[in-house]
Amino acid sequence: MPARRLDGVAVAAQIRAELVSRVAAFAAAQGRPPGLAVVLAGARPESEIYVRNKVKTVAEAGCRADLVRVDERASLDEALHTVQRLNADEAIDAILVQSPLPEGMGRDAEQRVFDLIDPAKDVDGFHPENVGRLVQKRPTLVACTPLGCIELLEREQIPLAGRTAVVIGRSDIVGKPMALLLMHRDATVTICHSRTADLPRVAASADIVVAALGRPGFVTREFVKPGATVIDVGINVLTSEADVHCFFGPDSPKRRTFAQKGSVLIGDVHPDVENVAGALTPVPGGVGPLTIAMVLRNTIAAAELRQAARAHRG
Ligand code: NDP
Repeated sequence: MPARRLDGVAVAAQIRAELVSRVAAFAAAQGRPPGLAVVLAGARPESEIYVRNKVKTVAEAGCRADLVRVDERASLDEALHTVQRLNADEAIDAILVQSPLPEGMGRDAEQRVFDLIDPAKDVDGFHPENVGRLVQKRPTLVACTPLGCIELLEREQIPLAGRTAVVIGRSDIVGKPMALLLMHRDATVTICHSRTADLPRVAASADIVVAALGRPGFVTREFVKPGATVIDVGINVLTSEADVHCFFGPDSPKRRTFAQKGSVLIGDVHPDVENVAGALTPVPGGVGPLTIAMVLRNTIAAAELRQAARAHRG
């Protein structure tokens, strides 16, 4: 029997609908809507798509959503000045800097930019203060992708407490916060990475597998215990027909998509896993829409928290 499909599009729509009243209440109290600024440095095609989706979703919910462009050839200082200006802007509650930053800004550019964002406006939850709060299980703003994965698991009533979970990938953006969120829900968590020995065996012991490594179709059926829940965070683009035919059988709609568009998306999970897993997120239509819904929810949360802090100061 094929795995139950965990429909991120439907769950994200439900979350957006629930948030409408919070936007209206904030706007009524403050005389302005919650405000998000998305900073895009350069013009990478994938980043353009991600940023467009985030701005559109947040604006459609009734918030202010500004796209702030920084030139591809700009210096790191210019990006830092942009963040400083947004930190000081009272009508902006939430700041998101789309990664990756242009290579010309240097190796540690992202860390320096994330460190400068006012933690109260840190919609992505990447600032060390927000990471520390998550570690201590008193989170305020948490990274949107892992937060979206947890939201999906909980709304789909996948039990977490007492279950074993394997997170493949240990990035600051996905793997580490994902592992913490699962641990805080009483799952027993193993974090795997490129140096993990016998990864398929380790993964196949888990009730829940989260694949966040950025390798197309890497997690094959031997990584998955029959009936396990599999969350596929990966977003990879296939542009070669040979690759598409290697992953997708002759009857797969993905082959038709490729014939029409010249590319298809694939996650980090191999399509065959559908026949082993108990529940599985599709790519696209799984984790991606949840990430964007969490950008909206964190924007509103940041606005509300700043409002509460102002009220507390008098
Ligand atoms: P990173 O490249 O920052 O991290 C990848 C992680 O995977 C690293 O910890 C790395 O290990 C591990 N890894 C890489 N290769 C292997 C391997 N062969 N075996 C085991 N572990 C491996 O990626 P991100 O965390 O930023 O993103 C991961 C994926 O999620 C990407 O496909 C990205 O596009 C996608 N993504 C999707 C989002 C969404 O909204 N759906 C949002 C964000 C990301 P090591 O540390 O040892 O190098």
